[in-house]
Amino acid sequence: MSQNTETIFSKIIRKEIPANIVYEDDLSLAFTDINPQAPVHILIIPKKPIVNLATAEPEDQALLGHLLLTAQKVAAQAGLENGYRVVINTGIDGGQTVYHLHIHILGRRPMTWPPG
Ligand code: 5GP
Repeated sequence: MSQNTETIFSKIIRKEIPANIVYEDDLSLAFTDINPQAPVHILIIPKKPIVNLATAEPEDQALLGHLLLTAQKVAAQAGLENGYRVVINTGIDGGQTVYHLHIHILGRRPMTWPPG
């Protein structure tokens, strides 16, 4: 799959469509999910248009680490001191609907296992 796919998240990065942005730095952006599945539901995305985890390259190693540490920061900022769920839906069987890598942070309710 192309690494240059234009998605709705590309437009959010370029501020062409609105989003409730809760964190931004040179490499990443975090905003609340438009269809929240928990009282706190935040998406963390790289500004680089990586399609998904399956297509990330070895050169993305530092960026992937940065995204996880951004997730930690955003979760703390959201006050999720009781914990949270981190999800990266990948491909068709993973339930991915937007083909721009994103980390879901879900919190402020108990999560169940196994996930659906
Ligand atoms: P996926 O199913 O690919 O793991 O997650 C995509 C997520 O993006 C979904 O939870 C969906 O609600 C969210 N989403 C899709 N379009 C938009 C949008 O335009 N704005 C925001 N804030 N979230 C979106």
